[in-house]
Amino acid sequence: MTAAEPPGPLLAVEGLVRDYRLPRRSLFAPPPRVRALHGVDLQVETGESFGLVGESGCGKSTLARSLLALERPDGGRVRFMGQDLHALPAKALRALRRHMQIVFQDPYGSLDPRQRVARIVAEPLHLLPSEERGARRRRIAEALSAVGLSPADAEKYPHEFSGGQRQRIAIARALITHPDLIVADEPVSALDVSVQAQVLNLLMDLQRRLGLTYLIISHDLSVVRHVTDRVAVMYLGRIVEQGPTAAVFAAPRHPYTRRLLDAVPRPDPARRRRAGQAEPAQDRSTSGRHTPGHSTADGGCPFAPRCPLAEARCRAELPALRAVSQARLAACHLA
Ligand code: SF4
Repeated sequence: MTAAEPPGPLLAVEGLVRDYRLPRRSLFAPPPRVRALHGVDLQVETGESFGLVGESGCGKSTLARSLLALERPDGGRVRFMGQDLHALPAKALRALRRHMQIVFQDPYGSLDPRQRVARIVAEPLHLLPSEERGARRRRIAEALSAVGLSPADAEKYPHEFSGGQRQRIAIARALITHPDLIVADEPVSALDVSVQAQVLNLLMDLQRRLGLTYLIISHDLSVVRHVTDRVAVMYLGRIVEQGPTAAVFAAPRHPYTRRLLDAVPRPDPARRRRAGQAEPAQDRSTSGRHTPGHSTADGGCPFAPRCPLAEARCRAELPALRAVSQARLAACHLA
């Protein structure tokens, strides 16, 4: 924390904008641009678990990469531990990186099959001052034990582990620098349903034991419901609703959040029928993939073409993200 900055949230995203260039349509035409993030604001407090949900292609992963300084935004800023990440010189950014780590979605693709677990888990140690061999080995053993693996597993290769165990290795790798923030991008979506709960329980247990702060990114509402304190819902590069997870799930204020919740499959269709609930229609809007960018044109609500409540004002005026009750924000004229 710098002396000039007052203490604040661990992570603060302010007005983040990210544009992508598409291939030119002709030799002389400028490359068209699409906007992936439209001025995103959010804050993650120390020690909380914050969820970010939305469909594939809504900008979640672009946001994650920007706030880990893996890509540079076109506008806005990201403050982590009080420091403006994208304004830091390379050396200072490198020093700060040990405090933020990421767990990727795919435990098969994110672990190099040719490397032993010890080397994989130790990979972020280049961010720390170098240590003698014994201390390094102890760190690796400590990280593996923290995720329920054996220190002896350090000598094995990724193919010797199941999907759930591989994700544990990825989590051990994230823990080895003793970070403050872990960004988990779809941490269980590549795993069998039977092991998803085990990995989520491990994440929650680690948070309690180590005082970690999480940003959990997922398209799966049940994951976010299970492990987060607060949640933000993203739609086409904008936050459209935010609040305490339990409150948002109990009484969503934005029609898009309602739609996402309605699309969550119920475990027992017979019970749904007895309760008089319709089966969810196979809705491309909640299951299909979008392109990673979204048009910057238009002045109205981006959800209007799909919103059952849309009215004339919605097509003319962009709703701002505003407080709709205590600790709740929504970007809807009718919220
Ligand atoms: Fe629907 Fe209008 Fe609200 Fe947009 S502003 S979500 S179109 S009711």
